[in-house]
Amino acid sequence: MNDATIAERRRTKHRRWLRHSNPYQNPRPHQPTLRFSPTAWAKLLFLRDLGPTEVGGFGISAADDCLRIEDVQLVRQSCTCVTVHFDDAAVADFFDSQVDQGLPPSRFGRVWIHTHPGSSATPSLRDEETFACSFGSVDWAVMFIVAQEGQTYARLRFNVGPGGSLAIPVAVDFSRDFTASDHAAWKAEYERCVMTPEPRPPAIFDGWPADTLPRTNEFLDEEWADFFGWPDDERELAYRHEEFNPSEPFAEVVHV
Ligand SMILES: [Zn+2]
Repeated sequence: MNDATIAERRRTKHRRWLRHSNPYQNPRPHQPTLRFSPTAWAKLLFLRDLGPTEVGGFGISAADDCLRIEDVQLVRQSCTCVTVHFDDAAVADFFDSQVDQGLPPSRFGRVWIHTHPGSSATPSLRDEETFACSFGSVDWAVMFIVAQEGQTYARLRFNVGPGGSLAIPVAVDFSRDFTASDHAAWKAEYERCVMTPEPRPPAIFDGWPADTLPRTNEFLDEEWADFFGWPDDERELAYRHEEFNPSEPFAEVVHV
């Protein structure tokens, strides 16, 4: 191998290294990528880390680029460590307020964002159901999840034409001007929107004296699984689902 070949190989390797070494690089134009402005990204992580529960909201897209998220807006929601439930009236109010500000729905109602505790950003069964039910009638939508430990998940779905769905990369986009962080305003938004109601016991415990009721976390204890006589495989499901729905008898939860 002569010196010219070696030099060329080095240049190629260097160019390749440059292409793959920067996680914040601008994606290739043909590759759909969910990109956050640095401010929106900082706000999302701030909101994620503010309390012990999941939080959720909508991404506000740039006027000229629906996959560039310039803000994350919370709506009133009740949250647990593993679920987010948006208040329907609050979502309607949020939509109205965005329209009043002159934004089309494609800029504020297509990118659904929420956080996960722990390390996994993989959507849960409930996430998939929500995405299908609440975002199945619009022309396109994105489900984006960021986990406590940083893992991200983004999926773009088209509901028009032949339809389709693809996981897309996520990036922080520094290519445009961005505003400063505002922790006080973000915290106020969080406190205004995120409710963490004390769960109450399932209906099957109605009428039980208060001092005999188990506390919420105890519902998933082995003791209670024994009480209900669950087989091991159903316990496994229940622990994984970790869902507590006060309106349903608890025994039904494992079958969700
Ligand atoms: Zn989720």
